[in-house]
Amino acid sequence: MAELVPIIQLGNPRLRQKASLIEDIQEQSIQKLIDDLIATVAQANGVGIAAPQIAESYRLFIVASRPNPRYPNAPQMEPTAMINPKIIAHSTEVVKGWEGCLSVPGIRGLVPRYQAIAVEYTDRNGKMQQQELTDFIARIFQHEYDHLDGIVFVDRLESTYDMITEQEYQQRILNNT
Ligand code: ZN
Repeated sequence: MAELVPIIQLGNPRLRQKASLIEDIQEQSIQKLIDDLIATVAQANGVGIAAPQIAESYRLFIVASRPNPRYPNAPQMEPTAMINPKIIAHSTEVVKGWEGCLSVPGIRGLVPRYQAIAVEYTDRNGKMQQQELTDFIARIFQHEYDHLDGIVFVDRLESTYDMITEQEYQQRILNNT
């Protein structure tokens, strides 16, 4: 049974560790970790969560885009576990977009990311997957991938002027500016 697990926050040194490769995906503890992450990200109105955010230092994250109160315009998809992921190619085009993080509550930032990426990962059944991701889903992937290397979105801001509060962000979305 999936459990909701506490999300660690900025300042916790475990968020800054480089995560380890997963060797045995079929192991029960890894499968349970995937279920717990999927349940936790849904409950928190996130669109993605990485294992290091619950203090499990493994190269695994969930991409789970769907419209929710924190991201009203997010596209809908099935929550997908991506294990030992890699970015194998990327566009030259970089776009800035708003991001938040369950480990950095109350803050949003305008983060530059590649517009398109080609990725490779192992799924929860142990099958290798290759995909091309664009726009918001590519953004989620790059954000979560950073967590595996101990990087948080605020590290990627070009200026502290690109950082705003959640309240200010919600007002901008409602006013569509
Ligand atoms: Zn995050």
